Amino acid sequence: MHVYHHKSITNEVIELPSGKVICIGQNYVDHIEEMNSVTAPEALFFIKPTTSVCCFNSPIKIPVDQGECHNEVEITALISKPLKNASLGEVESAIWGLGIGLDLTLRDVQARLKKLGRPWEVAKGFDFSAPLSPFVPFEELKVHNITLDSIEFELLINQTVRQKSNSSLMIRSICQQIKEMSEHFTLLPGDVVMTGTPAGVGPLYTGDNVVMKLANKYEFTSHVIAAN
Ligand code: ZN
Repeated sequence: MHVYHHKSITNEVIELPSGKVICIGQNYVDHIEEMNSVTAPEALFFIKPTTSVCCFNSPIKIPVDQGECHNEVEITALISKPLKNASLGEVESAIWGLGIGLDLTLRDVQARLKKLGRPWEVAKGFDFSAPLSPFVPFEELKVHNITLDSIEFELLINQTVRQKSNSSLMIRSICQQIKEMSEHFTLLPGDVVMTGTPAGVGPLYTGDNVVMKLANKYEFTSHVIAAN
């Protein structure tokens, strides 16, 4: 059975169920450019199921028989109140805290499905495709003067920086994208939002050492193994 407990930075279990993961694509210009993506004025939202959620340090499990599995490091937000057609103020008060995670993507599978004009859920929503760090409570972010619209984050693979960006470079800010998500899907306590990835996506391999850094303050380490 799939069991996941949201945890705080101090490793306490957060009393929220494990919910769905709502993601935004194409939220950083440099990533849109590296993918040569076709964009549109409407936001690109998609969902990863509850069974995609796992602990980042558990370790990272990737399918090894379906082509390249890419890293997409993203700032994450844990939702603690229901949101439907929410205002920006309601969104801000519904964010329990922030973390960082990987939106693992089977890139070859996704490319094949895109070419066929089919949805690409199976490339994004497979088991353990959302390894998440513990969450830093909103109150603690405030204490350290970390504001939602200016958060540094980065991903290192085998001690080399692969992705590095700042939430100030998002096309849709954290609150703006959650507001728009709530116009399509009701967000519930325990849901997680993945806020988009910057440039630097690329293949992960078993044995890789993986480090995620958030706000120049929080650091999480794991490594990659084969799923099953
Ligand atoms: Zn992503």
